[in-house]
Amino acid sequence: MATLLDGRRLAAEIERRLAAVVAEGRAAAGRPPGLAVLRVGDDPASGVYVANKEKACARVGIGSHGAHLPAESPAEEVLAMIRRLNADPRVDGILLQLPLPAGLAEGPLLGAIDPDKDADGLHTLNLGRLIKGEPGPRSCTPAGVMALLRQGGVPIRGARAVVVGRSILVGKPMALMLQAADATVTLAHSRTRHLAEVTLEAELLVVAAGRPRLIGAAHVRPGAVVVDVGIHRLDGKLCGDVDYAAVEPIAAAITPVPGGVGPMTVAMLLVNTVVAWCHRHGLATAELADLLA
Ligand code: NAD
Repeated sequence: MATLLDGRRLAAEIERRLAAVVAEGRAAAGRPPGLAVLRVGDDPASGVYVANKEKACARVGIGSHGAHLPAESPAEEVLAMIRRLNADPRVDGILLQLPLPAGLAEGPLLGAIDPDKDADGLHTLNLGRLIKGEPGPRSCTPAGVMALLRQGGVPIRGARAVVVGRSILVGKPMALMLQAADATVTLAHSRTRHLAEVTLEAELLVVAAGRPRLIGAAHVRPGAVVVDVGIHRLDGKLCGDVDYAAVEPIAAAITPVPGGVGPMTVAMLLVNTVVAWCHRHGLATAELADLLA
């Protein structure tokens, strides 16, 4: 039976630690940390995600400065809002909730966010910092996976790691973070031939393909650690990119869906916001050093 890598529990623990850092630094900073979630349009799933993020902020003592623009907003209006948030001294982190309505290109809008307020770690400068091993806000989902692996005592140095998926949001930064932690990393994607041959090599397998139950028992080396980033609703139930029932019996450790990577993504968003606030006010971040991938 595989060990469960419990993201919900770790995220709650990270929230407690962040709340302590915020409580301790608040007087010196003269204000609480602030996160602005910018939502454009009415994508229903986004509505739930934004509400969850704002609730998590409240638990930790982070102020929410969200804005919701109508779906038909022209790019200039969204840009103007981003510039306002860049200049707002109460705001330490800005997140542009994706997906955007059709017709709005995300590249220029993400690029307009002040890199030091880039709570999602997706700005070109921050991806460059990741490649060079320089400090900066990291992409939340892969940073959350790293925290979960470290907390679970999963050996990373020298491990054969395979990441399935090469998106800018998850797969690519995930591969870079594992490489920075001294794993030997292979990145598989939709054009990879004989996927199972590749994934069977993995001692550590991270799946972010966006394909429900793509990975079954035939893809997994017995004793591997399996991290499932995917999230889908199938027949009214949530599932991941990994066929949990088939893989759990042969894996050494596995993340559940829900309750694995999802809560960690939100936790790392809070970490990025609190760390940016600490930097802005000259407060120490040593307390959170183990969470900075
Ligand atoms: P994406 O669609 O941008 O990228 C998917 C990647 O998987 C691509 O690089 C593609 O080449 C690869 N791929 C697709 N089909 C494949 C196949 N058959 N074999 C091998 N590779 C294949 O998706 P994304 O934004 O990276 O997200 C991936 C999944 O993770 C989605 O299900 C998404 O909902 C989920 N997600 C979850 C969280 C979370 O917090 N839990 C956060 C972000 C994304």
